[in-house]
Order: sequence, then structure tokens, then C-alpha cells
Amino acid sequence: MTRPCRPRPSAAPRRVFGARWLAALGAAGLLAAPAGLAACARGGPEMTADLVLLGGTVVTEDPARPQAEAVAVSGDSIIAVGGNDEIARLAGPAARRIELHGAMVVPGLIDAHGHVRSLGDELANLDLHGVGSVDEVARQVKERGARLPPGAWVTGHGWDQNLWPGKRFPDHRPLSGASPERAVWLSRVDGHASWANLKAMRIAGITRKTPDPPGGRIVRDARGEPTGVFVDNAQDLVSAARPKATRDQIKESLRLGLERCAAAGLTEIHDAAVGPEVVDAYRDLADAGRLPLRVYLMWDGIGDARIEPLVEQPPFINYRNRLTLRAVKLMIDGAMGSRGAVFLDDYSDDRGNRGLLVTPPEEIERRAELSMRKGYQVCTHAIGDRGIRLTIDAYQRALVAARPRDPRPRIEHLQCVAPEDVPRLKPLGIIASMQPSHATSDMYWAEDRVGAERGKGLYAWRWVLDAGVVLAAGSDFPVDPERPLVGIHSAVTRQDLKNWPAGGWHPDQRMTLDEALRAYTAGAAYAAYEENQKGRIAPGRWADLTVISKDLRTIPPADIPNAAIDYTIVGGTVVYEKR
Ligand SMILES: [Zn+2]
Repeated sequence: MTRPCRPRPSAAPRRVFGARWLAALGAAGLLAAPAGLAACARGGPEMTADLVLLGGTVVTEDPARPQAEAVAVSGDSIIAVGGNDEIARLAGPAARRIELHGAMVVPGLIDAHGHVRSLGDELANLDLHGVGSVDEVARQVKERGARLPPGAWVTGHGWDQNLWPGKRFPDHRPLSGASPERAVWLSRVDGHASWANLKAMRIAGITRKTPDPPGGRIVRDARGEPTGVFVDNAQDLVSAARPKATRDQIKESLRLGLERCAAAGLTEIHDAAVGPEVVDAYRDLADAGRLPLRVYLMWDGIGDARIEPLVEQPPFINYRNRLTLRAVKLMIDGAMGSRGAVFLDDYSDDRGNRGLLVTPPEEIERRAELSMRKGYQVCTHAIGDRGIRLTIDAYQRALVAARPRDPRPRIEHLQCVAPEDVPRLKPLGIIASMQPSHATSDMYWAEDRVGAERGKGLYAWRWVLDAGVVLAAGSDFPVDPERPLVGIHSAVTRQDLKNWPAGGWHPDQRMTLDEALRAYTAGAAYAAYEENQKGRIAPGRWADLTVISKDLRTIPPADIPNAAIDYTIVGGTVVYEKR
């Protein structure tokens, strides 16, 4: 068993985790091993655990002890890892004992690139997919409206009149009846039409005199009155009238999104692009003790954003033991699906098109340098081979100019890298922040965009790992599911959830299961400067743990997404528990 003596009370300021954790690690004998062991040998009192996990398969990622049966936690830290009996003895009288029945415990999983508010907004909206009648829609609208604060709109998505008797477009009346005082705005399953009630149309100033906008149509009845359905660009007429989200609504979205992430086994999210209002909402939640997970924030420095006022504010680290803001998100190009990613050569399925720069490379360089000077990490969305190359070039110059201490620049997505650029990543300390499930979501068409030769560099995490580059895994939720087990499955199989294609898509780029787990733990922890606190189950580390119902190493890879999350534990607190 690895276990520390009781740490001496530390005079280190709690807000600076570096100092605090140096103290904790020192006490745990991890920094100065001989002194620590000597202290134990002198018979220092053992710590008492207030949480013990027993009878599991604990995959520690600690080379000193790769596997164990049990873990002891005191407060927010792991105090011991070892066999059942020795760990059970550490449990204090009031300790919670969790019997794992062989379940797998891994260091708390991290999603290195997600969008919490967007996920929460989706969850806060009524999900009308598959709803079979207008009456049922109206019932759900009424029920939702009863739970919302005054002035908030009932919003939803996913209705499809083809599932209803008569298969006709609806009109406003059922919604107006269900919600006379509160605006209702529901988008169709394909996003190309939306359905309003009378209140929403009044707020938006829609009358029979409102003309159809270019590229849009207001559906009207025989007398010319708008019926409540708005097609394509006409949707903007109503959606523009929606109230700006209040702080409470943002907080509610964040809370919903994080709750979903906790259920997926995630202990930490890197939230890729937030504005000041979202940072304030996060701070409120942290102050109220209502942040279940750790969140690592990136300022939104995308497009026309002015980053000066953002990076003028000093970064903060581990605020209330949950929240860190020390990164800036930039974006050099678009996405491959819409042919916006920037390539050195034409798109294979669209000759003459090489994509579109979202931010000029000089501006990426300027913002990167400024951010680095202010103590911020830079995370740049770069997808096409030219977008990636220009980002590496910009980083190279910014690093020389700013000379930051420990900058750890990141490239987000790194979806189609030129082979000759891979060896440039490690010497510059660039972290690859990649999303395994993007490969298996995009594989049906990605190679059409770039052809066979460039296609070798698509989602090339094998190249990245073999070049010694730190790989941080994520999902880009809600673009792809927030579930890390889905991502791990993509990483190790390069197959979709139906096990297509046989043998995997570009199987030479597969990761091993160990590599995938590391990308979701130690790799993502390093990308957030937390490699000494997370990524390993060992004494002195944060008690951030994910408990998975099955040992992923012993089941067929096709079954990985079906394993359940039994517990998610953050800082010693059980934040999700399977019922
Ligand atoms: Zn994203």
C-alpha cells in the first residue's frame, strides 16, 4: 500500500494550488521520497479516511503501483491506494464505504474540449423528437411554461409534422391555447422551419403586413394572416426578438450541462470559449458550492473578439477548488463539413476551393503573443492542413517574441495534419487537443473532402502519439456526445457504434486502450497544468475518480460504450451515482 503520514498543517496560501499542492505532495513523500519514508518509519500517525472504495480494479496510471483494489480518500485528496484490508482499516467511524464489486476505477476522466452552456441550452429546450401529435406538443409546452420564470420563452426543437395525423404544418392555436401569456418558439427537426404562438408573434411585431424576407417565407392562411410557422430566413424575424439570457438562465444551462457530464463519468471539462457573462455565471455557481465538476475556462477570442480587455484580467486558478481561467481560445479556420477548413490545396470534392480563414494568421500571432505575455495559455481551433501549419508558424513566432514561462500552446481539433508538420509539434511544446468521436462521426464523408493521400492525416492521433506529442482528448460536446466511453471506443476501434467499418477506418491510426485512457486523464490534465493533481490515482492527488461498471481492458472493444458509469467523484465528493 502507498500511504502517507499525516501532512503537517501548511502555511501555504490555499488559493495558489502550486504551493498548496507542493505542501501536500511533500507531506505525501512524493517530492522528497527519502525524507517522507523516514517520517513514516518513525511512526507518524496515519490519516483517517472519510471515503473508501473497496473491491475494485483500480487502474492507477501510477508506475509505482499500476493496479490496486481499493482507494482511501480524506477531504478532497487521495490518502492511500492499496489492498482491501489495509484500506478498509483506514476508514474512520463515519466514513462512507463504497463496495465496487470488481468495477474499474480510473483517474477522473476529463473532456478537454466541450461547450457546457450549449449542451445545457439543448437540455433546457423541449426535445420534441418523435412526438406523435400536436396535442402532445401543447401539453409539454404547458408543463414547461409552468416551471419557467416570468418573461422566459418556452423553446424547443425536433417537431416533425410527418409524425402527426394529417401530416400538415401546424398553426399557432394549440400553442397559444397552451401558453397564452408566454412566448413559445419551437424549431422543426431539420431547423428549416419554426413554430410560434401568438404571444411570440406579438413580441416580434409580426402582422399580416410583415413581408416575407429574402430566402424566407411566413406561412399564411387564406386571409393572409401569419399562421405561426416561419420557414428558413423568416425564422430570424421571431428569434431576433427573444430576450437575452439572464444570469440565472445561463447558470441553469451550465448546471444542466455539467449534471449531464457528471453522469457521463467526467470530472472536469475544458470549456472551449466563454464570454465574461458566462465566466460570471460560473463564479456564482462556484461561490454557491454548486459546481459539481472542475471547469477549465478559455476566453472566447474567436473571430472579431477583442481579447485585450479579457487578458488584462489576471488568470485565476482553482477558484473555490473548482474553477480555473487561464486560457484563450482562438480560431484560424472553419470546419471540414462545410468546406471552411483551410487547406494547402483544393478540396478534392470542390475544385478551386481551399477554405476560409476565420482569423488572419497575423492576427492569430498577435493574439497568441499578447495572451502569452499576460500569462494565458493559447488554444487555437485549426482543422485543415494549412490552417494547422499557419497556427504552428504563428505559435513559433509568438513564443520567440513573448518568451513565456511554461506556455503549453494547444491546437484544438488538428483534424487533417500534413505529415511534415507532425515533427514540429513537440519541439514547440504544442499539445494536440483532439476529439476521437469526430473521426467516427466524419468518416463517412471526410475523405471525399481531401482525397486518399491527404486522408492519411485525418484524425491522425497515432502520428501525434508516435511523435511524443501530448494528446488531450475531448468530444466537442454537444457536437458529439459528451460521453467519454463513446470517445474511447472511437479511439481504439475507429468504428462507429454499429462497428462499421469492419477493421476500422484508417486502423493504422488507432490508439491502444491505455493510450486512450491517458488522453482522457493525464493528457488532458497536462493540457490544464494539472498533471501533479490529476491523471493518477496516488496519495496526495485530488480525489477525482471515475468508476466504470466493467474493466474496459477485459471486454470486447465493441462493448465499451455500453459499460455504465457507476460513480463520478470530484474532490472526494460523489457527484454522480448510478441509481
Ligand atoms: Zn468546440
